[in-house]
Amino acid sequence: MIKTTAVVVGAGHAGLAMSRRLTERSIDHVVLERGEVANSWRTQRWPSLRLLTPNWQTRLPGYQYAGDDPDGFMPAAGVVATLTGYARVVGAPVRTATTVHTLRAVPQGFEIRANDDLVCARAAVLATGACARSAIPGIAGAVPMSITTLTPLSYRDPGRLPDGGVLVVGASATGVQLAAEIHRSGRPVTLAVGEHVRLPRSYRGRDIFWWLQATGLLAERYDQIDDLTRARHLPSPQLTGTPEAITTDLNTLTALGIRIVGRLGRITDGVAQFSGALANTCALADLKMNRFLNRADEWATTSGLDGDLPPPHRFAPTQVDPRAPLELDLTSGEITTVLWATGFRPDHSWLDIPVRDRNGHIRHDGGVVTGAPGLYVLGLPVLRTRASTYIHGAGPDTEALAGHLHSFLSSQRR
Ligand SMILES: Cc1cc2nc3c(=O)[nH]c(=O)nc-3n(C[C@H](O)[C@H](O)[C@H](O)COP(=O)(O)OP(=O)(O)OC[C@H]3O[C@@H](n4cnc5c(N)ncnc54)[C@H](O)[C@@H]3O)c2cc1C
Repeated sequence: MIKTTAVVVGAGHAGLAMSRRLTERSIDHVVLERGEVANSWRTQRWPSLRLLTPNWQTRLPGYQYAGDDPDGFMPAAGVVATLTGYARVVGAPVRTATTVHTLRAVPQGFEIRANDDLVCARAAVLATGACARSAIPGIAGAVPMSITTLTPLSYRDPGRLPDGGVLVVGASATGVQLAAEIHRSGRPVTLAVGEHVRLPRSYRGRDIFWWLQATGLLAERYDQIDDLTRARHLPSPQLTGTPEAITTDLNTLTALGIRIVGRLGRITDGVAQFSGALANTCALADLKMNRFLNRADEWATTSGLDGDLPPPHRFAPTQVDPRAPLELDLTSGEITTVLWATGFRPDHSWLDIPVRDRNGHIRHDGGVVTGAPGLYVLGLPVLRTRASTYIHGAGPDTEALAGHLHSFLSSQRR
């Protein structure tokens, strides 16, 4: 049996940042990790993936990117190297190859079964990530057996796909990147597009993440957002990180020769049916993008930066082919692969403690788990701010939650 004050489950960037915060406060702890440090970047991300956040924004408590390409986009292997180095520098007490099977509340705190060990702690932090599972819609079960189906968690490179057409379902950050990559391999790609967040890679000479940060949008707090549930379920922005820093929107993909269709709604007798509202969906995404660019322009003016930046401009509306098919026969042989780029979900199924709502989401107030004193969660969308899912969001989030955890321990001692 291992006794410690706090347990952190997961050694991704969030768990490591928390470890550093606990060390700063002299709180004795262990970090339990089922694989190695940065396991999800080693095993669940495709090799060509690059961060869509620029290198200058890659920062953690006690770490700031200092390489020679601040405006570049780090490849997955670079993220592994960065986090491995970070774990070493902050001296995170990580126990690798240690899978947590259950966590339950006991009068003294929490009892955690990890491999064959029992770990007892007064506080616990869940840092197992927001993207542990692929979110696959129920209609996936209606895809004909002859078709290869996969998710971004199992996708590696186009060379491993069968020859023939690929239907990519979902046009957010993952879907647009993989559609472009698969298209380059010579396979015809059809991209099914539902609600999405369109953003240009750069605007008025600055990366879009510079604008998202400068305007204060990323720092918006969870308790100041009108429709928090909606904010927490927004798709990731339609952005990719490429060496050329190009915009990868639907117009770019259409120009490449990718066929854009509406949201995949049903599959009946092997026939995929797409929404006819594609033009409306795209018009709404264009409208919201322009709303943000208006906000950016207003911010630049009030900040007195107009003279330092190129003038405002707007991007071409999304061109929608009025002949986009509404149906595709998946039994015809035209499509050999369906890739579900329909989002990700956390996996807290190992929690043996009633802290989840009927949809399986952990109930929490800015990361402080409801009804379980001493339990915290990290890394979920808009956990404390709109930046919470991003690497740089872990700094402020862990600062706040480590502070709360410290006060909790002090109050217990009194
Ligand atoms: C495709 C993709 C692209 C992304 N791109 C960016 C980007 O450009 N910029 C950005 O800032 N963010 C990006 N993110 C978001 C986010 O930064 C990553 O998802 C990041 O990996 C989340 O970090 P984390 O520490 O919360 O979780 P993870 O990195 O997933 O770490 C969780 C850890 O917990 C471990 N674990 C899970 N269950 C258990 C268990 N039961 N017992 C023990 N250990 C366990 C896992 O092995 C893993 O190591 C991206 C996410 C995805 C999916």
